[in-house]
Amino acid sequence: MAQRTAVVTGASSGIGAASARALAADGWHVIVGARRVDRIEALAEEIGGTAIALDVTDESSVEAFCAAVDTCDLLLNNAGGAFGATSIADADVDEWQAMYDVNVLGTLRMTKALLPKLIASGDGQVITIGSIAAREPYKGGGGYNAAKHAVAALTRVLRIELLGQPVRVCEIDPGMVETEFSLVRFGGDEDKAAKVYEGLTPMGPGDIADAVRWVASRPKHVNIDQILMLATAQTSAQVAHREL
Ligand code: NAP
Repeated sequence: MAQRTAVVTGASSGIGAASARALAADGWHVIVGARRVDRIEALAEEIGGTAIALDVTDESSVEAFCAAVDTCDLLLNNAGGAFGATSIADADVDEWQAMYDVNVLGTLRMTKALLPKLIASGDGQVITIGSIAAREPYKGGGGYNAAKHAVAALTRVLRIELLGQPVRVCEIDPGMVETEFSLVRFGGDEDKAAKVYEGLTPMGPGDIADAVRWVASRPKHVNIDQILMLATAQTSAQVAHREL
């Protein structure tokens, strides 16, 4: 059988990089995309994959990336993140717009562009990384909650609309995972980022990659619709046990 191809967005760090490694270890040819090209080139060399520059918020970048993908059996929509944690009263509209663009419209642009190839695969899969923020509102989470709720809506509508087509759709919603996520959220403030994980053991990117590779390796007649994954020390968006 010909080697199957997976596209991973946001593969320069965290969950995306770990998932690309896990999929490659399972025999996939992995095409990795992100804006930090030096990082994805090093990763592609390590895993025998292909690196292509990608900004999911830029229509022409998505178009060029997807034109360079000949066949696609799996799309991992992972690129995304949160910017800021302000209240709605103090919300920065530009931050909200940026979160909507990367998380929601980025997922839409990539899915729409690769859908014909996923259908042509005869056994395509879309796996989208949502968040516990897609399920539970929390204080200071407004913009990210709104964006990830929209990602969940998009993913669940896609599942319904593809019924009868050879493309499976899955949403993986993680809680706390220690990556560059909090550093990005707090504009590079290392102390604020470290506080998020203080006194508990969060999940690591490899834990989410384990779920990705498991979903990707289910037989064609099994669709894993949704997975919620939390650290043992976390039971909801704002309830965590910390040993301080
Ligand atoms: P991360 O380490 O900050 O990784 C984010 C990735 O997204 C990077 O590779 C980044 O690459 C890429 N990215 C950001 N903007 C992009 C753009 N415009 N175009 C293409 N790629 C872009 O964070 P992570 O935790 O692995 O996040 C991965 C996903 O998991 C995100 O969707 C995030 O919302 C979700 N998530 C994270 C957590 C958590 O606690 N960490 C929990 C739930 C859900 P470049 O900057 O190089 O482009």
